[in-house]
Amino acid sequence: MLSACTTSHLISMTRMCLRTTKARSQLMSKIRSRGNKETEMRLLALLRKAGISGWRRHQALIGKPDFTFRSARVVVFVDGCFWHACPRCFKPPKTNRKYWNAKIARNIRRDRTVTQALRSSGWRVVRIWSHQLSKPAAIMARLSKTLEL
Ligand SMILES: [Zn+2]
Repeated sequence: MLSACTTSHLISMTRMCLRTTKARSQLMSKIRSRGNKETEMRLLALLRKAGISGWRRHQALIGKPDFTFRSARVVVFVDGCFWHACPRCFKPPKTNRKYWNAKIARNIRRDRTVTQALRSSGWRVVRIWSHQLSKPAAIMARLSKTLEL
């Protein structure tokens, strides 16, 4: 049986650990939203530069697409290479693997569900990896084709 002292020590260790996990996840979600915002703004700038209009941001659709072209029935997501496990860039983190694997696996599952749900309601779904933003011409060619411009 554990002594009172050990038990209270264990409880305080557990609390500390939980606090750290919570703080970490809050921090990461801040980083994540900032990351999303930044890539979104980069695509926005590219769309403006290419003179592509007719989009709205953050429409109330499943998965909250980054850009929605209502009349063309096209939605666009910019997926962060880390958060969505890009096959080209993703490197599993060295620490807290279990935590990250679970989190990223959840994101991948959600991406699939969202894409399928949108497709079955008649949307065409374009997913762009954030690393692809460095090759704007390729993205714009793809978008123009999908939007039939
Ligand atoms: Zn990537």
